[in-house]
Amino acid sequence: MRTSGNGSSGRQGRGRTALRSATLPLALVLTTACHTNVADGPSTAEASFTVRYDRPSSPDADDAAFVRERRLPEEAVRHITALVRLNPPVAMTVRSCDGEGPSYDPRTREVEICYDEISETRGLYRDAGQGLSDDALSAVLLESLFHESAHAVIDVLGLVVRGKEEDFADQFAALMLLRQGAEGEERLLDVAETWRLSAITYENEDEDGGQADEHSTDHQRAVAYLCYLYGAAPANHADVIGTDTLPAGRARGCAREWKRAQAAWTNALG
Ligand SMILES: [Zn+2]
Repeated sequence: MRTSGNGSSGRQGRGRTALRSATLPLALVLTTACHTNVADGPSTAEASFTVRYDRPSSPDADDAAFVRERRLPEEAVRHITALVRLNPPVAMTVRSCDGEGPSYDPRTREVEICYDEISETRGLYRDAGQGLSDDALSAVLLESLFHESAHAVIDVLGLVVRGKEEDFADQFAALMLLRQGAEGEERLLDVAETWRLSAITYENEDEDGGQADEHSTDHQRAVAYLCYLYGAAPANHADVIGTDTLPAGRARGCAREWKRAQAAWTNALG
C-alpha cells in the first residue's frame, strides 16, 4: 500500500502507479506454460508467472523477509493460475520501490510489487492506533499482487474492459480472495479496513480529494470491497453495514453488484 503522494501520479495514500503505458497487442495462447526464473533464492512460481525477489534496500530488509517467508507472490500465483493461464508468462518482481507504487508495465510485461508496502501499512495502522496482525498484513500485500496481476491478465489476454480498468482490477482481487472461502473473506475485510484507514489518513490531505489518478478514491475502494464481501454472502456479513463503512443504501444493491462483477470476470476468462 502506498502511503506517499510522491511519484508521477502525485496521488493519495495507497494509490498505485498502475499501467505505465498504453496496452500492447500481445499474442494470446491459452495453454499451459512455463516456469520459474529465480534471480535471488528459491522460488516456486508456476505456469503463467515467473516470480523474482530483487535484493531489498537495507531499510526494506525486514519487509522483504516477511514477504519471502510467507511466500506471498507464490501464493498469489497459485490462486491466479487456478483460474487462468498466461503464455508467455508474466514476470512478477518484488523489489524496493522507494516511493513508487506497485505497478504493471505492459511494455515489459512485468508486475512490480513493493517490499516497502509492508512497513507503510504497519505505519498506517500504528498512526491510527490500531493493531495489525501478520495475517492482515499478508492480505494487504496479496490484494496488491492480485490487483496488479489483473492488469497483466487483461493485457496478455487482450480482454475488453467495460468501465474503469482500475475497478475491474479491484474486482479481480476480490474474486481471488473470495474464492478462498472463510479465510479469503477475512482477508477482504482486512483489505477494506486498510483502504478505509488510508482514506482517513491521506485523502483529507489532498486538495483534490484523492482523485489525482485513474483509480477510484481510497474511500470508494474501501466501500466497494465491503460491498463485494457483503454482496457475496449477505447473511454472513450484515455487520459490515454502517455509516462509516458500507452505507445501508449501497448495501441493498451489493448482491447484484457482486454478481455482475463476478460474471464479468468469469465471462472474460471464458
Ligand atoms: Zn491498477
